[in-house]
Parts: sequence; C-alpha cells; structure tokens
Amino acid sequence: MSSTVISNIATLVTNDPSLGDCSSLGLVRDAAVVIEGDRVVWTGESSKAPATDNRVDAGGRAVLPGFVDSHSHLVFAGDRTEEFNARMSGRPYSAGGIRTTVAATRAASDAELEANLTRHLTEALRQGTTTFETKSGYGLTTEDEARALRLAARHTDEVTFLGAHIVAPEYAGDPAGYVDLVTGPMLDACAPHARWIDVFCEKGAFDGDQARAVLTAGRAKGLHPRVHANQLSYGPGVRLAVELDAASADHCTHLTDADVDALANSRTVATLLPGAEFSTRADWPDARRLLDAGATVALSTDCNPGSSFTSSVPFCIALAVRDMGMTPDEAVWSATAGGAAALRRTDIGRLAPGAYADLTLLDAPSHVHLAYRPGVPLVAGVWRRGVREV
Ligand SMILES: [Zn+2]
Repeated sequence: MSSTVISNIATLVTNDPSLGDCSSLGLVRDAAVVIEGDRVVWTGESSKAPATDNRVDAGGRAVLPGFVDSHSHLVFAGDRTEEFNARMSGRPYSAGGIRTTVAATRAASDAELEANLTRHLTEALRQGTTTFETKSGYGLTTEDEARALRLAARHTDEVTFLGAHIVAPEYAGDPAGYVDLVTGPMLDACAPHARWIDVFCEKGAFDGDQARAVLTAGRAKGLHPRVHANQLSYGPGVRLAVELDAASADHCTHLTDADVDALANSRTVATLLPGAEFSTRADWPDARRLLDAGATVALSTDCNPGSSFTSSVPFCIALAVRDMGMTPDEAVWSATAGGAAALRRTDIGRLAPGAYADLTLLDAPSHVHLAYRPGVPLVAGVWRRGVREV
C-alpha cells in the first residue's frame, strides 16, 4: 500500500483535542498529514513527518476534514425557481410547494433522478463535502419511496427514509391512513435500503403522536431515528427526538428553554440548517444559545429544491458566523465533527490516525477564511478515502 504525505500545511484542523493546540479543533501549525490507503496514519508537525512514497506540497495553505453534510434531500426532479422568485419578490404564489416536487419526481425515470443526484453530489464535492446523508420524501408512495432510497444507496451509506415528509396527496383527507401506510407496507419496502428514519414533525405535516408512531415503527425495523423538529414553530419534535435517542434534531429554529435543556442533556445533536432560513427570509436559529447550554451543534445544507437550494457547506459556515452567533472555529467544527456526530460516526469529521482520509485543502492559510471570505470558491483540493478527487 503506497503512502502519501501532504506537507507544508500552514493550519491543519484535526478535530482531535489531544493534537496540536489542544483546542476542540486540535489545530496544528506547519503541519503534515500522512495517508495510507483510505486512512490517515499520521498527523503532526511537517518537520517530524515519517518517510513516504509520495509527497504533496500544500503550499502554506489550510487543510481540514472534508465536510460532513448530514442533512440533504437530493433525490428529486424539477425545480422551484418560480416559487423562490415569487417569494423573494413579494408576490403571492399558490403552487403546491413540496407537492410540486413530488409530482415531478414521480414522473421522472430512474436515470433522470440518478443523474440529478450525481450532479448535486459532484457540485458538493467540489465545495469540500466528502460525506453526505440524503433522504427520500418526494415519492410518497411505497414504490416511489423505495426507488428513491435504492438510488441514494448507490452513492452513500447515510440513507434516510422520509416517507413522513408530508401527507401524500392521495391521503389528503385521511392522514391516519397515510401514517398506517408509512409505518406498514412502505416501511417494509424501504427499510432494507436505509439506515435512518425521519419525520417532519410540524403543524401541517405530522403531529407528535404521528411522529412517535413513525419513528418507533422504524426503530422496530432496525432504522435509527432523526427528526425534522421545531423549524417553523414551537412543538414536540425536539423533545421527542431526545426521548427516542435520535441521532439528530434538525432545524431547531423555535426552541423553548426546556427544548434547549433536553438537547444539552442528551447525545442528540442539534443540526442547524441556515440555508433554509436564508431562502425563506425566516428568523435564524440561535446557535449561541445552544452552544452556551452545552448542546452539540452540527451545520448542514438541507439541500433541496424548495426551501434551501444550496449544496455549499462553506456558505452555511459563513451564515452561521454572521447571523447565528457562532465563532469561525465553532462553525468549522460543526460542519465537520458536528456532522459526524449527527450521523453517529467517529471515522469521519476528524484527521487523526485511524480516520478516513477525507480532507479538504483550502486556497487560504486558515480555516477562518471560510467565514472571512464568504462566497469565494476557496476549495483547492479534496481527497476522499485517500483518493484525490478535486
Ligand atoms: Zn430537510
């Protein structure tokens, strides 16, 4: 197995507090990383790096773990440009939101859906994302949900069954009947293709009792819970997530003190998705409040064609620093190690011996530039599983 050293790194983010400056980012200056096969085998100061077969000169720039985007919706067809344009232009818009995407997705061929998925994954990779989670939720029939998960599973291990995204249009007058479908035949067809089960717990989607039924049924089939919680209003989603030991409560925009306490005293990660607030001109989630309480916070894109059509984790980092009270260090941690925690993974989101060699080289001397230089394409190189892909 050949080994490669990436040396002459001005600032290396390891996310291992036992390395470097002992901060949570585990920063090492004048650093090197040694890769063997798909793993990191050594990190430290460049001058102490062991001999290797190959050498890459980072040119005095920064290296950090590849971003872990733990929340996206990438199996879809069509787009919602008109809806976004109307919303941002103050014009009323009456088309069906998620239902528009459901109709387009059902009508698309497998090849069209997979081509769209691949296009967005390539786009994310170019921006430094090396792990992504993605969900079903635009099929809402047993066949269409299972198809979405099958396609997603060809590209990632982090696949989430979100049959409970909204009530399917065919069940508009019978939400209980739809929950029976999601927890019965649809779950049976979908569980083999997924690792996670998710539910949109919100007024107009699924209430606390329905969400509990969906998540417990999923758990009985070996899927682990994650929850779309407290995005548009206060509600039971976050506390349900904590009660069921969900890996993540996602959005967390409207939180009571009890919600914040529940997250802080659990291992459920609060995943914040500022692309959604940006694209809907909504109030920002309060990352500072969660961090000060001791909660673990992840940052992700929520990439989807309706409410957050960005695949850019650097953009979300910049928003989190500008508008959500995070420091640049906290935002970078949340987009790497935080995303890994939201997927209950320890083999990604850090650059220490044993971790996957998933790393991003910036065209900048420090990770702080991700917030300091918003909107600038700073990603100069991406390695995934030890292979340079960008
Ligand atoms: Zn979402």
